[in-house]
Amino acid sequence: MSKQTLSFQAEVAQLLHLVTHSLYSNPDIFLRELVSNASDACDKLRFEGLNNAALFEDAPNLDVRVGFDTEARTITITDNGIGMSAQEAIDHLGTIAKSGTKDFMSHLSGDQKQDAQLIGQFGVGFYSGFIVADKITVESRRAGLPAVEGVRWVSGGTGDFEVETIERAARGTSVTLHLREDAGDYLDRWKLKSIIGKYSDHISLP
Ligand code: ADP
Ligand code: MG
Repeated sequence: MSKQTLSFQAEVAQLLHLVTHSLYSNPDIFLRELVSNASDACDKLRFEGLNNAALFEDAPNLDVRVGFDTEARTITITDNGIGMSAQEAIDHLGTIAKSGTKDFMSHLSGDQKQDAQLIGQFGVGFYSGFIVADKITVESRRAGLPAVEGVRWVSGGTGDFEVETIERAARGTSVTLHLREDAGDYLDRWKLKSIIGKYSDHISLP
């Protein structure tokens, strides 16, 4: 699949506008959401792997890695879980399926301050990355698919996203956050460690 630009579902665009325009009371939660997605992806592989051990390929040990690059101003969350096909990336990162998020959307009042508080209560999953990032790049390959069927998904968090097929040897997903100007304090080992310790300590994966 060559590069194509697709539009977010209207509800996603609305949610993104809110995420990026409302003052967020607790920006740290982006990491909790992305680590929890990485962990879910590993759980899904474990589950599907019960009936199809080949999905583990040559890497049976599941883990989640959080890295950062001070020069590029990026944070990357990588898992070797189930991954996404190109179609799954389009469907799962371009629409809201999650009932919690739908519930959240139904409570929106249009009042910035009130709505910003709601975000804190509900959490907004993957899209919370845009609290700290002005661009997110996702690279993934679904377990069991060949390396040439990897996918790259890129969005600036406004109306649309780009998606294209890439070659990716590694199974699973990397989410790279290109940090906003004012989010540079996350490029710090101890800050990241302390947020992970605070919100993701219950996750049993290394
Ligand atoms: P939720 O986790 O509640 O389903 P999210 O907004 O956090 O909602 O994520 C949306 C969807 O995107 C997930 O349900 C999943 O299908 C897909 N997704 C997100 N991150 C990953 C990942 N690291 N690996 C595989 N799929 C992912
Ligand atoms: Mg999630």
